Amino acid sequence: MSAILPGATLGVLGGGQLGRMFCVAARTMGYRIAVLDPDPGSPAGHLADHHIQADYSDSAALDRLAALCSVITTEFENVPAQSLRHLAAKCAVFPAPEALEIAQNRNREKQYALEAGLLPVPNFALHNESELQTALAEIGLPAILKSASLGYDGKGQVVVNSEAELRTAWHSMGEVECVLEKKIDLALEVSAIVARNAKGAVCFPVAENQHRNGVLHISIVPARAADSISAQARAQALQLAEALGYTGVLAVEFFVANDGTLYFNEMAPRPHNSGHYTKDACVTSQFEQQVRMICGLPPGDVRLLSPVVMVNMLGDLWEPDWNMILDRPEVKLHLYGKQHARPGRKMGHFNVLSENIETALAIAEDVFAKLKPKC
Ligand code: ADP
Ligand code: MG
Repeated sequence: MSAILPGATLGVLGGGQLGRMFCVAARTMGYRIAVLDPDPGSPAGHLADHHIQADYSDSAALDRLAALCSVITTEFENVPAQSLRHLAAKCAVFPAPEALEIAQNRNREKQYALEAGLLPVPNFALHNESELQTALAEIGLPAILKSASLGYDGKGQVVVNSEAELRTAWHSMGEVECVLEKKIDLALEVSAIVARNAKGAVCFPVAENQHRNGVLHISIVPARAADSISAQARAQALQLAEALGYTGVLAVEFFVANDGTLYFNEMAPRPHNSGHYTKDACVTSQFEQQVRMICGLPPGDVRLLSPVVMVNMLGDLWEPDWNMILDRPEVKLHLYGKQHARPGRKMGHFNVLSENIETALAIAEDVFAKLKPKC
């Protein structure tokens, strides 16, 4: 396949912040952009050359997108598989619909990771109530019940400490397909982000991730894990991308248990919140990498130029004193252009670059502590 070059139009399904940052990277490189998103105020729609405001299952809208674009990608994994297949019949679509379908279901992705040689968290796929007891006997307590699909940012999951709690949780989730997972004693959470296409595969430096209320709060790079753990995470993420024959950017989340075991948690078939540090701290950002991968260009250099700490800015602390942030020379602010702040809504992030992690963390914590709401 010959590469798709600047001047061509790239399509993206979804107009959230990941789509917006993809647009910025693509436009910087001279590409045009078409976004499909029903929301007239979507963060990516603002920056796109074409914004098709329609539902993801609107086949006429999908046809219009395909007619405009040389290649189409997605910024969120829950695009209906049927829509992707519809598009793929008319236009190049990366990642492939099959890879998205695997990532859309926690049971499928765990099975796939296992077959690719990774070690998923001990788990049991649940389809009906009669399986609850067997699942509990196999997994033990405490455990976490997660809906198999549509969960994100800690939504659609409940920690259970008894069979009665498991039963209640199962009913509260609407008796949909679930997975019961062993609750791991976490030493650390890390993620590894791969960029892969037929021209090559690379993995970014591993990020150490800390969550609050199930939402990513902070990423620290390099991760404060043993070198052998980080090396293993990168190798396994590449291995999974290889097994999938993947084209695009693939994020893989891992748990490091207190006994040093590295467990596969989940994957995302797109750039990832824990990779936002790459925008300021790597030779190539994860969004430029997404452009490169879908256009058939070789992956860019993933070298880390500086220790970095990324902090998410949620709608809970809005709107901050901008001068307090912008007056700090080590801090790089990224906002997503969302008009309305709501608790838990991702409004932006900032990256702190410093000669060492300790200093970057101290600055990050100081700025975060001052993110008080205006009124
Ligand atoms: P989401 O799709 O919401 O990111 P995750 O499965 O990654 O779902 O869970 C969100 C967070 O909840 C994880 O990053 C981790 O902090 C915690 N968590 C999830 N599963 C487990 C588990 N099996 N053991 C310990 N902690 C877990
Ligand atoms: Mg996760």
